[in-house]
Amino acid sequence: MVDATVLRSHAGGYLVYDSDQDAVFQCAARGRLKKERISIVTGDRVELDELDPEKGTAVICARLERHSMLSRPPLANVDQVVIVQAIHQPEWNSLLCDRYLVHFQLEIASATPVLCFNKCDLASESEILSLRSIYEPLGYLVIMVSATAGVGLAELAAVLRGKVSVLTGQSGVGKSSLLNYLEPSLHLRVGVMENESGVGRHTTTYSELYSLHIAGPDGTHIPGWVADTPGFNILELNHQQPHDVVFQFPEILELAHDCKFTNCLHLVESDCNVIANLESIPERRYQSYCAIVIEAQEVQKSRKDVSQKVESTVKRVGGDGKGKQVPILNSKYRAESRRLTRQQLRTADLPDDDSDLDSAESAEEFTETGDDLGDD
Ligand code: GDP
Ligand code: ZN
Repeated sequence: MVDATVLRSHAGGYLVYDSDQDAVFQCAARGRLKKERISIVTGDRVELDELDPEKGTAVICARLERHSMLSRPPLANVDQVVIVQAIHQPEWNSLLCDRYLVHFQLEIASATPVLCFNKCDLASESEILSLRSIYEPLGYLVIMVSATAGVGLAELAAVLRGKVSVLTGQSGVGKSSLLNYLEPSLHLRVGVMENESGVGRHTTTYSELYSLHIAGPDGTHIPGWVADTPGFNILELNHQQPHDVVFQFPEILELAHDCKFTNCLHLVESDCNVIANLESIPERRYQSYCAIVIEAQEVQKSRKDVSQKVESTVKRVGGDGKGKQVPILNSKYRAESRRLTRQQLRTADLPDDDSDLDSAESAEEFTETGDDLGDD
């Protein structure tokens, strides 16, 4: 048996790379895995059996333990997330940048995201410095690149070398251009934009790992594995409890320790140490923080509303504290449900009369069932 990596998982089939043979196999998974509900996704390390190098086929017989898991698109064993943004075209958006940071820090807590700013050929020196000055002091690795001018790509390649990375970011920021530059054999389509509903190049609900052959300083080629993911819309981003947002903003967290109230959200002034020291936080970061907290509050509220709605549509039956919740049906469905009971009775042991139903129900029942008696 060999240990290999799933490059693509789609419609029940898998494309798997076996490094020992430096070959790709078309695989199916053993039925047992499905029975045991062991899912296999791109990035999974798997054991192969029944290898047929001539046909290029094999069977996946086991999945090894995952060290990380990205949920959308499903991708296992990701070492790092590279957030790609354009400085211009499309204009850089600080809130979007912070949203991506928060989302991926929550998704893969073990890896600090890398910020890759593309199209630096379109930016001034001062714009580049100001972006660095926001994120480098917070401990993020910031890489300035230009796919068209060939700037900074050796640094990006060094970051990707020997790791499994996800390249993420809005459509149009240059992800395909960067990947094509690093691995010209990929021939990814460039400049095909998504429309607003995300239909276009990335209609994928699956992801694929590409291998980039990156030369190291000593001339050896070590692959870097990269997956390209679609951009996100707000609803798909991770939303946490409003009070937890601050843990994703280290510069605010540092000040928050000295707020008077432990449940302070740092949005209003009452003895808030963050607000007292706002001048020490980049304005854009505090704006992002506020926007994300307020959004988290809204998400929390709408979840509460939904769960209250659900509660008002169920009733508890059974008593003794062991009752179970059953839906309270509106009149149309109540009638439907009684009709079903009756049909079951009829097919089982049909009583001569309706003695098991109260008279009001029987009358209603009769008119309702009249039109579909023939169905039984
Ligand atoms: P993706 O949607 O993120 O994969 O972006 P693409 O790679 O398709 O690029 C979108 C557009 O940006 C294309 O027209 C590219 O030619 C252009 N582009 C990509 N990188 C750069 C860059 O570094 N500088 C400039 N000026 N344009 C770029
Ligand atoms: Zn505060």
